[in-house]
Amino acid sequence: MKPGISKNVSVRFVTTTILACAVIIGVDVSIAAAGSPAPTGTVDDRDVYYPGTESLDPDEMRIVALGTGMPSVRPKQAAACWLVELGNGDKFLFDIGSGCHERLSAQKIPYDYLDKVFIGHLHVDHMGDLPSLWLGGTTMNRLVPLRVWGPSGATPEYGTKASMEHMEKMYVWDIGTRSGVIDFRGGELEVHEFPFDGINEVIYEENGVTVRSIPAVHGLDGAVSFILEWNGLKFVYGSDTYPNKWYMEHAKGADIAVHECFLPPTLLVTKQGFAPMEALMVGTQGHTSPEQFGKVMSVVQPRLAIGYHFYNDFDTEPEVRERVRKTYNGPLDLAVDYMVWNVTKDNIRVRMSAIDEEIWPSPPIKEKIPPDTGSAIGFSDFTKSGAVPFEEVVGPIFDEVNEKYGTDVQPIFTE
Ligand SMILES: [Zn+2]
Ligand SMILES: [Zn+2]
Repeated sequence: MKPGISKNVSVRFVTTTILACAVIIGVDVSIAAAGSPAPTGTVDDRDVYYPGTESLDPDEMRIVALGTGMPSVRPKQAAACWLVELGNGDKFLFDIGSGCHERLSAQKIPYDYLDKVFIGHLHVDHMGDLPSLWLGGTTMNRLVPLRVWGPSGATPEYGTKASMEHMEKMYVWDIGTRSGVIDFRGGELEVHEFPFDGINEVIYEENGVTVRSIPAVHGLDGAVSFILEWNGLKFVYGSDTYPNKWYMEHAKGADIAVHECFLPPTLLVTKQGFAPMEALMVGTQGHTSPEQFGKVMSVVQPRLAIGYHFYNDFDTEPEVRERVRKTYNGPLDLAVDYMVWNVTKDNIRVRMSAIDEEIWPSPPIKEKIPPDTGSAIGFSDFTKSGAVPFEEVVGPIFDEVNEKYGTDVQPIFTE
């Protein structure tokens, strides 16, 4: 969405239309075109958020919806992920669902600042892009450990710690290719598992920011919702949950209260192909229907209620909104990816982001340390025997770079 560009296009279209009509009806073209000069210069308030172009005020919070959809991903909506940026510079990720990482990279934030992830539960649509942020992030110049907070489960094997240990095993080959080859400090994973049944317990407290967890009712034991408080502002993130007493009690006083709001069962049948029984069970018992969402928000009464976790289209949003309105008449947004909220004590502003698709990683914010190449695993003699070094072209490339940057790097493969 680039208003400047679309405005130019529409102006050009209108001018062409006027000229065409003028020719047809025989009007003097110079008169028809007079009084409507082509616009030049800038537009003051574009009402669009361009990532990387706006600083936050010291008392301001910015929330970006990076994933508002479902486990069944699609281009318009990635799975759950919410970025919260604070005026003190701190940044937090709540869930990191499938497909959201590219939306995160589009925020143009140096990756050392994207080092805190809070996972509400271990469904793939809430943690599917964690490996990409963790290991892909090392190629995006993150040089600090990735810190992950997540709940325990009914037994240790269902908890976040066990999940992260298995993830590290799953990616042992990936890690093996990078260790000793690049500055891999960002490959370290720091896991903080906390009891899923803690009620409004503090799980994070740094730099004036407090994050608490409350139990959620979703899937199995081991799902939670989060409450972030900073500078008199309160952000509540439900992740996934059936309506529950903990959310309704502890989300009270929220400036922003995010809670799942599923498609109504009728649309789950007609649009998603669910059987009626599946639609009822998933849409009202496993998840929270729009009417149930409205009941929750009527109790919480936040400054702004945000519903997410449904396919939000031109033909679904009106019905979802109408059903929420049966039970809730307060301020409401139904989120899609790239919606942005700027929150202060006096104002909440919502806009859409314009996204630059040709994103490059932000430069590292500290100096890279050359890796200990001796610790690299490397190839067997068998694989090395198959490599064709083309020294006559690779040698000059090394010479060119070594000369330009004053280094003395030698190729691994030689004749
Ligand atoms: Zn879930
Ligand atoms: Zn979910």
